[in-house]
Amino acid sequence: GLIVEEAEKTFGRTGVLHGVDLEVPDGSLGALLGPSGCGKTTLLRLVAGFERLDAGRISVGDRVLAEGRSNHVRPERRGVGVVPQEGALFPHLSVARNVAFGLGRRGRTHRRGRTEEVLELVGLSGYADRMPHELSGGQQQRVALARALAPEPALVLLDEPFNALDPALRSELREEVRQVLRTAGVTALLVTHDPEEALSIADGVALMREGVIVQTGTPREVYERPGDAGLATYLGETV
Ligand code: ATP
Repeated sequence: GLIVEEAEKTFGRTGVLHGVDLEVPDGSLGALLGPSGCGKTTLLRLVAGFERLDAGRISVGDRVLAEGRSNHVRPERRGVGVVPQEGALFPHLSVARNVAFGLGRRGRTHRRGRTEEVLELVGLSGYADRMPHELSGGQQQRVALARALAPEPALVLLDEPFNALDPALRSELREEVRQVLRTAGVTALLVTHDPEEALSIADGVALMREGVIVQTGTPREVYERPGDAGLATYLGETV
């Protein structure tokens, strides 16, 4: 699983993360829930290796990926797949080439086989030769997920992956993505500002406010005893 301990990050004079602790158990799907600007994306970028920690430690399983400022494993060596918000695909490459991109130097037979395998996993077997613009937004996000899963990462990070989709499609794709992650058996962390999304999809939820985790629990625990007034109000209003 993923373990983040006492993560600190400051940009210039702006403290963004103030000692973040977070754990996503092996094979489960965690949601990091919080309003815009609370530091979710920064935490995700630290885990992916796109930013350097100021202090703290990030590990996956028994492998330390980052510790303090100096110990920093490069992103491509982390075994961490990322599914961004939207526009993640290379527009000039076919679906199959997009998916195979993450497979780097492995043999061609392996690449082809693995590409077919993950496209089937996300329900897009017949789409290998399509171009991204020939797909719906939801299909594009499924291809992005297939690409993230292709190299068999130890961890997958999803950054508001349903944001660009309309609400009906969003809840449908949410369920699909959950199934795919489950079938793949991969540990995953999803970042979202949408409480409904976090509570419906995740095995565990961490609530973030202004650079600290203020509550962790199962969706039920968070739903029944929301960890701060903002979330309580939201839940009171919508259910
Ligand atoms: P959103 O959902 O809007 O992306 P977020 O919770 O993901 O919000 P972050 O993107 O992590 O929040 O940003 C947290 C804070 O850190 C913001 O105040 C932002 O302006 C600041 N910040 C993020 N990256 C940088 C950077 N490279 N340089 C300076 N400030 C930054």
